[in-house]
Formats: sequence, structure tokens, C-alpha cells
Amino acid sequence: MGTIRKVLVTGGAGYIGSVAARLLLRAGYAVVVVDNLYQGHRAAVPPQAHWARVDLADKNALRAVFAQHPDVDAVMHFAAYTLVGESMAQPLKYLRDNLVNACNLLEVMLEHGVLRFILSSTANLFDLPPEHQDQPITEEFPIIPGSPYGESKFFVERVLHWLHRTHGLKYVSLRYFNAAGALPDCGEDHDPETHLIPLVLQVALGQRSHITIFGDDYPTRDGTCVRDYIHVADLAQAHILALEALDTLGARHYNLGNGTGYTVKEVIETARRITGHPIPAVIGPRRPGDPAVLVASSERIRRELGWAPQYPDLESIVRSAWEWHRAHPNGYED
Ligand code: UDP
Repeated sequence: MGTIRKVLVTGGAGYIGSVAARLLLRAGYAVVVVDNLYQGHRAAVPPQAHWARVDLADKNALRAVFAQHPDVDAVMHFAAYTLVGESMAQPLKYLRDNLVNACNLLEVMLEHGVLRFILSSTANLFDLPPEHQDQPITEEFPIIPGSPYGESKFFVERVLHWLHRTHGLKYVSLRYFNAAGALPDCGEDHDPETHLIPLVLQVALGQRSHITIFGDDYPTRDGTCVRDYIHVADLAQAHILALEALDTLGARHYNLGNGTGYTVKEVIETARRITGHPIPAVIGPRRPGDPAVLVASSERIRRELGWAPQYPDLESIVRSAWEWHRAHPNGYED
């Protein structure tokens, strides 16, 4: 036990990690960002954070960071391969590297006596059969990973379970539904971009001719996949609440979403309204690995940690993303 002052953030140059790093700094924590810049951007790292370009495959480089910052009290682990579709084509990249990199990190943490950990986990743990699809997904639902990506996060959750038992590691796993939205100076910039909301907004910016809808034959109200979109700032805030409760929680899992599902077509319609652009859409085949419906019940984190989203509706989430994309049409390059 003791006060948490310094937090090491892996993937802190990435989309969600960079927002969490900013919110941690604002809340008064010191922050060490570790990122290999595979997907992340140096410009996304807040200037007040300590910075180390390190690949988690390289345990010695990681040891050097912990040696340089012996006062790190906790780790937030965002760094991972994150694409469902890619994981279906390259399963070992996910099943092996996401697991090995997390184990490397945990091994070095244990060597340095750091025993607090927050994991970015995922809704892709819940590729549920149709009878489960009309209720929000609680933490009690069966774990059925939808892809090697989801499975790799489940592997890491299992590692945390065992290190809790063997070493007293305190951890929280936050299972995000669909992260979206932006802060004014911090938004979504992947290369290649694969996520629905930034792709739709790129059409509105004239950077793409159309959006392809991946399947309109799902058993949903308009045939397209239903997802629960959650603002990155609300996700980041959940990390801070989890960090502050970690010593009393011990080992806990939380599903994180707004509790409302929107179809792909509804997302496109919302973006049309906000941008005033017609955003042409064409129907394509399903994307392997995509569950039909993913909507979170976040009752547990609301009740236990007092989490309350500031962006509970799709409109405000897409609007914040649009403001960032309009101001940064080339992402972090400009
Ligand atoms: N999607 C789509 N067209 C695209 C990208 C995504 O129809 O070009 C769909 C995808 O099948 C899923 C939803 O949009 O149902 C959200 O996908 P995204 O990749 O943004 O997030 P994920 O659900 O994979 O975390």
C-alpha cells in the first residue's frame, strides 16, 4: 500500500494511452510513457511526460526504464496489437506477441517490486450466441473470444489472475467496448486506419470516396453490426478511478461502455448529420471476427468506482472526433 505518484504508461503514444497520460498528468501524477511508435506518434506524448522509445519485446530496454524511474508505483498497459480483422489473418502475431510482451512487462515489474497493473482489455471477449445478444454484457457473461485479438487479451487476464495469487499483484482489467472521440489536442490517427468513425469522417473530409459497411445480413435491427461507442476521455477517467481504488480492489474486471448500441448505419447517419456531408456508403462482405452485437453493462464500475461518462451519447462522441479530424486532417503529421 502507499500513495501512487508515478505511473508508467505503455502505449502512451497511442490513441487511448495518450489521452490517459494527459488525464493522469492533469490529476497530478507523474507519467512515464513507453512506446515503440509502431502505431503511436511521438507528437501524441504529452510534453510533461517522461518519454522512452522502447519495444516491450526488449526486456533489457524495459529494465533500463524501470532502473531510471525506481519510483514508478503502477503500470497502465495499453501497448498491444489491437485489430480484430488483422488478428484473423495473422493470429500468431496476436496470440504470441500480445502475450509475450505483457509477460515481459510483468516480469520486469516484479523484478522492481511494482505490483499495480491496469490492463486494456476488450469487448471482443464476448462473441456470444444469439440468445445472449439482447441484453447488455455484464462481467458475469461467459468469455468467448471472437478473434485471436480477444483471445490474446484473455491470455493476459489469466496471467494477471495467477500473478495476483502468486505474487499479490493488484490489477484491474478494463474491457473496453468501442473507443471513439477525441480531446481537442489528442485524437485517433492509425495507419492504416481501420476504425469505423475515423474512416467515416475521412469520407466527410474528402479523403476517401465512400465507406464500406462490413455486412448487412447480421441479425440486428438494420442488418449491420451493433456496437457500444465510448469516449476516450471517459475510458481514461475509468483508468484513473481504477488506479485510485486498486489497493482495495485487489483483482477486478469491469466492462466499459455507455450501455447503448448503435448500428453501423446509425453511426454513418449521425456523421452525415454532424458533418453535413452525404458520406456515400456501399455494402461489402462481413469482416471475419466481428460479433453481431456488443453492448456493455457498466453497472459494476458505476456502482463500485462511481464512474459516470461525460459523453453518454453517440452524437457528442462523433462531434468531438469530427472537431479533431477537421483541425488535424493529416492526423499528427501536421
Ligand atoms: N466497420 C464497417 N466498415 C469499416 C470499418 C468498420 O462496417 O470500414 C464496422 C465493423 O464491422 C464493426 C464496427 O464497424 O461492426 C466497428 O468496427 P471498428 O473497427 O471501428 O471497431 P471494433 O468493433 O473492431 O473494435
